[in-house]
Amino acid sequence: MRQRLSSEPDRYRGRRRVPTPPRSRYAAVVTTAFVGAGIVALGANAFPDAKSVSPSVLDELRQASITSQDIAARADTADRASRDSRADTKAAAKEDVWRLPLVGYDFKYPYGMRWGKLHSGIDLVAPEGTPYVAIHDGTVTKAGWFGGYGYTVIVEHPDGSEAIYGHSSEVNVKQGQQVKAGDQLGLVGNTGHSYGAHLHLEIHVKGQPLDPVPWLEERGVDITLQIEAIYPEVAAS
Ligand SMILES: [Zn+2]
Repeated sequence: MRQRLSSEPDRYRGRRRVPTPPRSRYAAVVTTAFVGAGIVALGANAFPDAKSVSPSVLDELRQASITSQDIAARADTADRASRDSRADTKAAAKEDVWRLPLVGYDFKYPYGMRWGKLHSGIDLVAPEGTPYVAIHDGTVTKAGWFGGYGYTVIVEHPDGSEAIYGHSSEVNVKQGQQVKAGDQLGLVGNTGHSYGAHLHLEIHVKGQPLDPVPWLEERGVDITLQIEAIYPEVAAS
């Protein structure tokens, strides 16, 4: 910059009383043209050479360059933050796992009408005391006696759906607890209105029960065949 200025014709020398901003200032101003639309008017095109620039414009440029450095710093922070959140999203997707609630059961009574009323879940028959686990990550919203359901655990998942695990002999979690897919919630039992040791599993979406079989199948779990991740490429994506 200095060399180029000293090689310019003498007639310009007398007017060059205004301090010339160092190159980094120009770079900052050019950056501003991309970062802050409000300062674009002061960008490179508006400032081809220092000789036509008044001191007040230089002051503005100095201010602009300070601002642009702030903006650049903020933009950098925002970019890093968004990259972090993308990484979080990716990590969350990997953890978007659905599991069978237990292994080694007889799939007994499906969802649907039974004895003249809706059976609002499915029954998985297993010996009393068999541990059962969370089918998905979530928050325990109920852990204790729940009328006809007996000892019950309810887990609310991040998507707003709920899983209800009924007729337990005991529950092993507390209300408010965060659980991951596969964490033990309780033991299979015969409490409440139950005809024998089994896990009654209900899925509620928007507060209404639905058939867990196709719903879980969409999430990679075939509960009638006791298979997890039947569509591994979907479950993993
Ligand atoms: Zn049932």
